[in-house]
Amino acid sequence: MINIPKGTKDVLPKDSYKWQYVEKIARDTANSFAVNEIRTPTFEHTEVFLRGVGETTDIVNKEMYTFMDKGDRSITLKPEGTAGVARSFVENGLYAGTLPAKLFYISPCFRYERPQAGRLREFHQFGVEVLGSTLPNSDAETIILAKTFLEKLGVKNVTLYINSIGCPECRKKYAEALKTYMSDNYDKLCDLCKDRLVKNPMRVLDCKNPECNKLTANAPSILDYICEDCKNHFESVQKLLKIAGVEFKINPNIVRGLDYYTKTVFEFVSENIGVQSTVCGGGRYDKLIAEFGGPDTPGIGFAVGIERLILMLDNLGVEIPNENKVKIYLAPMGEKESEKAFELVCELRKNGVVAETDHVGRGIKAQFKYADKIGAEFVGVIGSFELEKGVVKLKNMKDGQEMEVVFSSLVDAVKNA
Ligand code: ATP
Ligand code: MG
Repeated sequence: MINIPKGTKDVLPKDSYKWQYVEKIARDTANSFAVNEIRTPTFEHTEVFLRGVGETTDIVNKEMYTFMDKGDRSITLKPEGTAGVARSFVENGLYAGTLPAKLFYISPCFRYERPQAGRLREFHQFGVEVLGSTLPNSDAETIILAKTFLEKLGVKNVTLYINSIGCPECRKKYAEALKTYMSDNYDKLCDLCKDRLVKNPMRVLDCKNPECNKLTANAPSILDYICEDCKNHFESVQKLLKIAGVEFKINPNIVRGLDYYTKTVFEFVSENIGVQSTVCGGGRYDKLIAEFGGPDTPGIGFAVGIERLILMLDNLGVEIPNENKVKIYLAPMGEKESEKAFELVCELRKNGVVAETDHVGRGIKAQFKYADKIGAEFVGVIGSFELEKGVVKLKNMKDGQEMEVVFSSLVDAVKNA
């Protein structure tokens, strides 16, 4: 037997309906906010993520699946969705089209991490990116889209945390303050944070090491260092969220993983999935498109981890509707009856009815068992008596009621049942 690679998962038929449902709600929610789908490749030139994620992030430092292809190019499997979208936005000149460009994607992502519940090496994200608006209402709208999506799925017990990490100007001042504050404890920081403190000090706040968390617990708050413009922007975002009736908490320690975030950052954190509690993260990235050689174009977006989301729904006991139920199973009792059942199943399917029949020559009892297992709503028995009379003996599997239906009315009878 060959095993699945560490940190990857099969989605088996008993669970795949959950994925289909979550993805459908994602698409419907995005569409209802006038957001259109974009599909970018699963792999990119490594450079895309060096630029678009940033060289001081955990993703770039530790987590990328990078390899040389047979043409000696450095290729990386996408660890997140934003960088590829930014590359595509610039390469395809979308900045010259209708703005804002409101985009969404559902995509696999790859990160070399230590696998645990809700943390995989291949996982999936539903993400939204809005490019071309500096106004705080696009921040608020994007946050509300994420919240609407979670609510439509029946997610409860999530808290929305927001923060502003200002612009590069504000950050310079804050970085100095943070460096000064941390200087006494520099030796106690983990090696990565020592490096961060030099290259991108704010990222020490995002460290997963509990020792570092203790040291930064009372660090100065970025919110005391942001400029007038960033402050006004942050206040407007809060005002709009209040208008929309969206509850939130301000958490100055949220800085997010990526280097090119500016101003608003946010996370939806669940109380239900244990250690990996952040189900959605996002923020504004006004410097990213220019980083890819495009004209200065502001952006804001988020990504939800679908595995974590489904884990959360399972833990909450939220029932996800299975929309793939079989409507009718036709149970023939002989060879001739089988041919008729085959013909009727074709007819039912042509008319949009989910129908199934025997494929292994089971006896009638076993066929009923099978029909029950696949969740068939009706079973239509065709024995020699029925065949001669031109009818199906239709049994409603829920209430046990039976009736005879002539072959020619079967489609209508089942459709209207
Ligand atoms: P974490 O702090 O948990 O490592 P992150 O900041 O690295 O998260 P993002 O880059 O913001 O995560 O990705 C957005 C979302 O994608 C996360 O909130 C999470 O739901 C999901 N996600 C990230 N990494 C993984 C992973 N390795 N396995 C499963 N889901 C993940
Ligand atoms: Mg991570």
